[in-house]
Amino acid sequence: MNGVKDDELHTIERVIASPDEDAIGGTATYCIGCGSCAVIDPAFRIAKNADGCYRASVVGEPRDWIAAERVCPFASSVDENQLGEELFSKQSGVKYDQHLGYYLSAYAGYVSVDGWRSRGTSGGMISWLAAKMLQDGLVDAVIHAKDGPDPKNMYTIQISRTVDEIKAGAKAKYYPIELSEAIKQVREHEGRYLFIGLPCFVKAVRLLRREDPVLMKRIPYCIGLICGHLKSDFFGQAEAWESGVPLDKIARVDFRHKTSGTRASDYAIEVRRTDKDEPIVKRIAELSTANWGLGYFKYNACDYCDDVLAETADATFGDAWIPKYVSDDKGCNVIIIRNQAIQDLFNRYRNELVLHDSDATEVYQSQSSGFRHRRQGLAERLYIHQQRGEWTPTKRIKPSLDGIPERRQRVYAMRTILKNESFVAFREAVKAGDFTVFNKHMKPLERKYWRVSIPFKKRMMNLVKRAINKLGRILKKL
Ligand SMILES: Cc1cc2nc3c(=O)[nH]c(=O)nc-3n(C[C@H](O)[C@H](O)[C@H](O)COP(=O)(O)OP(=O)(O)OC[C@H]3O[C@@H](n4cnc5c(N)ncnc54)[C@H](O)[C@@H]3O)c2cc1C
Ligand code: SF4
Ligand code: SF4
Repeated sequence: MNGVKDDELHTIERVIASPDEDAIGGTATYCIGCGSCAVIDPAFRIAKNADGCYRASVVGEPRDWIAAERVCPFASSVDENQLGEELFSKQSGVKYDQHLGYYLSAYAGYVSVDGWRSRGTSGGMISWLAAKMLQDGLVDAVIHAKDGPDPKNMYTIQISRTVDEIKAGAKAKYYPIELSEAIKQVREHEGRYLFIGLPCFVKAVRLLRREDPVLMKRIPYCIGLICGHLKSDFFGQAEAWESGVPLDKIARVDFRHKTSGTRASDYAIEVRRTDKDEPIVKRIAELSTANWGLGYFKYNACDYCDDVLAETADATFGDAWIPKYVSDDKGCNVIIIRNQAIQDLFNRYRNELVLHDSDATEVYQSQSSGFRHRRQGLAERLYIHQQRGEWTPTKRIKPSLDGIPERRQRVYAMRTILKNESFVAFREAVKAGDFTVFNKHMKPLERKYWRVSIPFKKRMMNLVKRAINKLGRILKKL
């Protein structure tokens, strides 16, 4: 980095640095592009890189490197355990779990009134809760992801001040966003704000609050989304392109279009076009890039993150994709409450909700593959970097191969290849103007991955199951 020796770098420079950028698709950075550093210092600039991921860069000399480090979720020495303890541990009745962090209660459920559920990603709980907090005067405004100004910025973080504005922001955005512009507005305008975001963004806001007394006062609450990983903007482009919409005709992608008569996890995307009124709807099961386990177009930083359940949020919501609830096509949330004020609100309006008591085991089960990848898989990734003498952010998980079967080690290694190659393949496809180029590049790797990750007998059984399902769908149409 500009002739500076590696051991002279600030931690945040190491987070941003991309030692081998070209070799692995420009994603080899630990920066998630959240924008927290840019809130406190204009020398940090946030822009999308060639792979459609937000990333910080430094222009000139920052006022205070160490202050920027303190607000960065990947550079700060304060981890989720410490933040969780500061925020929640002193409440009466609080419990602690190694996966959930501190929590008061856990549920599975959905909103049963006013169309919140049908408008929402799963049970509609986040938007409902944000609206209730606004109506009950806990906050004056809500900071969350909403429709952006143009196809290059399909979604951005904005501020909603009415229930209708909150409603318009429903649905999960598997799309790169950053928070610096919105938080700068919060600094300029009095009021109490609710922040809604992914676990690392919530951590960034908690760190910003510790740094800045104005933000400490103005952002009293955070809601977290459970997070598997974040996607580059290649993800939306690839899904829309494969659905038949040319790249220059994509207006916006709704990543969670509900379909009826299927499992909640069998959802579709809806692509709006710039050239026609009629949107295209496509089941994700028919798209090559939509299998989250393959991790296509994943931010590199996400492979170095150990907070699945937004442990620093006052309440966290995700998809209840467990056998008990997944068959309900309308969608169901898994819910973790950590703050008594939110618990009181849930108790007060329980008649608007269908809530089933849940527990740490059930919540873990609903995210078990995410936890395996980000706990066991992370230990392996950190170990490999350590063996190579490479710097990595300090995590709560320690580098180790202990107890990781060899087959599993190969699975994690293959996932890194799939992630890196997906960027290379998509660039090749764009250059050729032909989406099939992407699949020609990726399918052999994908097959290799399935051979490593699924034993032969199970692969055969899956094939038969898929054939029967397909036949069922054809017969249903006749
Ligand atoms: C990148 C990503 C990865 C996810 N991974 C998982 C996972 O692995 N497992 C799981 O169970 N759930 C995951 N989720 C959460 C899940 O998709 C739903 O968002 C969650 O169940 C809430 O549903 P809801 O119906 O209650 O929310 P809704 O009522 O639809 O409201 C969603 C709220 O979240 C806000 N929002 C949406 N996307 C973003 C974003 N990117 N950043 C900030 N705010 C946003 C919206 O503005 C809206 O206010 C993920 C979400 C995202 C965005
Ligand atoms: S604060 Fe966010 S944007 Fe800045 S370096 Fe850290 S991860 Fe990147
Ligand atoms: S996986 Fe972790 S780092 Fe990636 S977006 Fe989610 S919370 Fe942030």
